[in-house]
Amino acid sequence: MPRRLNSAARNRASRNRESAAACTVMIGMLTAVSPCPAAQAGQLRQAPPKAVAANAPAPHPATPGPEVAKFLAISAPRVVLRHVSVIDGSGAAPLADQTVIIADGRIAAIGPAATTPLPKDAELHDYRGYSILPGLVGMHDHLYYSASNALQRGGGTVLEPGVIVAEIAYTAPRLYLAAGVTTLRTTGSVEPYTDFKVHSRIEAGLMPGPHMDVTAPYLEGAPTYFAQMHELTDPEDARRLVDIWADYGATSFKAYMHLTRAELAAAAGEAHRRGFRITGHLCSVTWPEAVAAGIDDFEHGPVYTDSEFVGGKIPDVCPKAQELQASWVAEPIEGAKVAALIRLLVDHHIAVTSTLPVFELYVPGRPPPQRRTLEAMASGARESYLTERSMLDPNNPTPALLLHKEMAFERAFAAAGGLLLAGPDPTGNGGVLPGFGNQRELELLVEAGFTPLQAIQIGTQNGARFLGRDKDIGTLAPGKRADLVLVKGDPAAHIEDIENVEVVFKDGLGYDSRRLIDAVRGQVGIR
Ligand SMILES: [Zn+2]
Repeated sequence: MPRRLNSAARNRASRNRESAAACTVMIGMLTAVSPCPAAQAGQLRQAPPKAVAANAPAPHPATPGPEVAKFLAISAPRVVLRHVSVIDGSGAAPLADQTVIIADGRIAAIGPAATTPLPKDAELHDYRGYSILPGLVGMHDHLYYSASNALQRGGGTVLEPGVIVAEIAYTAPRLYLAAGVTTLRTTGSVEPYTDFKVHSRIEAGLMPGPHMDVTAPYLEGAPTYFAQMHELTDPEDARRLVDIWADYGATSFKAYMHLTRAELAAAAGEAHRRGFRITGHLCSVTWPEAVAAGIDDFEHGPVYTDSEFVGGKIPDVCPKAQELQASWVAEPIEGAKVAALIRLLVDHHIAVTSTLPVFELYVPGRPPPQRRTLEAMASGARESYLTERSMLDPNNPTPALLLHKEMAFERAFAAAGGLLLAGPDPTGNGGVLPGFGNQRELELLVEAGFTPLQAIQIGTQNGARFLGRDKDIGTLAPGKRADLVLVKGDPAAHIEDIENVEVVFKDGLGYDSRRLIDAVRGQVGIR
C-alpha cells in the first residue's frame, strides 16, 4: 500500500563533504604493518542470533520464464551429482566421493557414492574432481555500483548534488548468481523501486538472480555525501521512513554515516517493532552508542567506521576520515579497549559484516585486477576504475596497516564467539564487482587467518543464521533448499578454487555460470 514520502529534507549543514567518504579515503603516516594472526583449527563458535522475522521467499519457486530458462544447464526435476566432494558449510571437513540427490528443489539425499541408492528417474551427472558447497549468502551485496568515481572526485571535492552511484539492476543479479550467491541482502538502496522490482521479477521466475532481502533506502543524516540519499530531519522522520519502507516491502534497514543517536534509536525501535533488523555503516554514532540504540549488525568492521576512539569526538558528528583512521592506527587490536568492544558485541549478539575487498582496493601493491573483472565492466567504468587505481600512492603504508588491523579484528571477534558475516560491497573505486567480490571476500578471510572451511562457513551458514533462514539454507543436508554451488577443484584446500564455478543451483535449478557472465560482458556500470 504505497504512501507518499513526506520529503522534509533540509540541508542542515554543508561542511566536510569531502571528509565524509563512504568506504574509501585512506590517509595517514604510519610505517608499521601488523602481521595477520595465525590460522586456528576447528569450527567457529558463535553466539546465537537474536530472534528475527521470517523473510523466506515463496515456498514453491515459480516456473522459469524464457529469460531464466536460457541460462539453465540442468533443469530436470530429479538430479544426481555423483563423485563430488561435499563441503556442507558448517565448518566440518569435506566428505569425498559423495552422491548428492536433488528432487523438486530440495536436497533429497547426501551419501557415499558407493552405497547411496540412485532414484530411477533421475538425470545423472558425474563430477569427479569437483566440490559442492552451499550457495553463498551475500550480506553486503548492493544492486548498485560506483561506476564513475574518477569523474566525480577530481580536485578533492565533490560537486553538487553529491556522489552519484549507478543502479545495475541487469548485471548485478546475474553476476551474483554466476559467482554462486543464491541469497543476498542489498544492505542499502539508492533506487528502492528498482530493487523491489528486481526482487519480484526474480521470485516470479522472470529473471535470473539470487533470493533477496531488500534493504530500505539508507537512513542517513546531514550532511550526506551522496546525491541519492535522503537526509533525516529528526527521530520521527526516521521512524516514519522505516514504517513507510516496511509497508512497501523492505525486510531490512541500514543506518548511515551522519544520522544522530536519537534517529538511530528511533529507527531501530521501529524496525524491531515491525519484526526486522537494522544494520549500520556508522561514523557520527560510535559503536557502543549504536549498541545502546539497539543495532543488530555493523558493516565493514570497526577500523573504518567506529569513531569511539577519536579524541574530542563531538556527539552525533562524524569526524574526519583521517581522524577516525588515525585513532585506529594508534589502537592495538589485542589491547584492552578492543577486547572490551568485542565483549560488548558478543554479549549483545551483534553481528559484524566483513567487506575486505572494498578496502583492498585502496592498498598499493595488491594483486592486479582480474581479466574477467575488466571484461565485465562497461568501458567508462573500466576507465574510471583504472584511473583511480593509478592514483594509489605506493609509498603510503597506512592503507595496508588498516586492512591488516581490520583482518586481525575479525579474527579476534570470531574467536570470541562473534557472528561474522561476509559481503563484497561493490563500491569504492569500482574494482569490486558483484559476485566476483563475494569470492574475493572469502579469499581475503583466509588471508586474514581463517581456514578455508571457516571462510566458507562465514560466507554461507553465518549469513543464513543472521537472516533467520538457517533451517532452510546456508548448509547442505537432506531437506534443505537445493541452493548449492558446483566448483572445479577443492576450495577446502585452495580457497581460490571458489572462483571455478561451473553450475549454480538455486531451488534445484542449475544455472550455467559462464553463460551468465557472458550475458553481462561490457555492461557493469551502465545497466
Ligand atoms: Zn555498502
